[in-house]
Amino acid sequence: MKKVLITGAAGFLGSHLCDRFIKEGYYVIAMDNLITGDMKNIAHLTPLPQFDFYHQDVSKYIHISGELDYILHFASPASPIDYLKIPIQTLKVGSLGTHNCLGLAKAKGARILVASTSEVYGDPLVHPQNEDYWGNVNPIGPRGVYDEAKRFQEAITMAYHRYHAIETRIVRIFNTYGPRMRLNDGRVLPAFIGQALRGEDLTMFGDGSQTRSFCYVDDLVEGIYRLLLSDYAYPVNVGNPDEITIREFGEEIIKLTGTRQKLISKPLPADDPKQRRPDISRAREILGWEPKVSRAEGLKITYDYFKSLSPEELHGSEHSRYGTPYEQGSHAVSQ
Ligand code: UDP
Repeated sequence: MKKVLITGAAGFLGSHLCDRFIKEGYYVIAMDNLITGDMKNIAHLTPLPQFDFYHQDVSKYIHISGELDYILHFASPASPIDYLKIPIQTLKVGSLGTHNCLGLAKAKGARILVASTSEVYGDPLVHPQNEDYWGNVNPIGPRGVYDEAKRFQEAITMAYHRYHAIETRIVRIFNTYGPRMRLNDGRVLPAFIGQALRGEDLTMFGDGSQTRSFCYVDDLVEGIYRLLLSDYAYPVNVGNPDEITIREFGEEIIKLTGTRQKLISKPLPADDPKQRRPDISRAREILGWEPKVSRAEGLKITYDYFKSLSPEELHGSEHSRYGTPYEQGSHAVSQ
């Protein structure tokens, strides 16, 4: 039985990857420090004999006994609200956490796939974004902690590949959605659906003319699975090129949920990319991959998931999870 370590396993993407690797017959070691992840996402897997959970921070030294075939490094906060609240942890997991994973891959002779992001392109001046574009990133803006950590992650991964001959894979993930997204992580899809379900107006940032291209999680997982098993060491964009403005997206959510609320405009956050759409020619060519799930299908499944949440989950605030930068109380996370 092949053994895979998945970091960030209790998060949105990590938990779907755990499902996929269990389904494919792997032994899965799931690791998470549970700062943004939630055990509820993998509760259905914990009774399985071929599934192990380690409550651990990957930014600290990691030890795994025995053999390991694959590592998927998916631990990281991944929403602009999280970067603002836990900026130093965001930097550490992308840099120190990646270093630890690469060291483990070297020690075990394991192949490693790291989760990079369309954020390496920053507020892109090239559209759609292909892998040869170097990006337009503000290193000192609010998103800099994530963007630069992920750029460092790619650099150190290529260095381990070139210097230590480690088998490495880099996926650049574009906006992805589906069940198990955190309702209050500030991302646009859970924000809009949560607001519709609570009978609140939908908060559109700016005039809503900025664009995004949303990929359903099952499509993303398929692309990642194929990339891991490929022999391609350079970055590959995985995402859905079906681009939409945030205003149109809000209108789709209003229609889907049947809410009587409306879109209201809020200030646009700093460095919010104006447009984003993956060029997926490379994934098509190398992986024979392209997305299959339309936004209408994917949004319906995702809406059904959010509808099934309890009223406490729907109305609860997660802000107490890690406290504000100024709070030194027991909830504040050590950064
Ligand atoms: N956005 C919005 N309302 C919200 C949350 C986000 O209009 O309540 C916008 C945000 O400004 C951005 C887009 O939706 O232009 C996608 O935001 P998200 O945080 O989901 O992802 P990212 O900006 O990282 O792509």
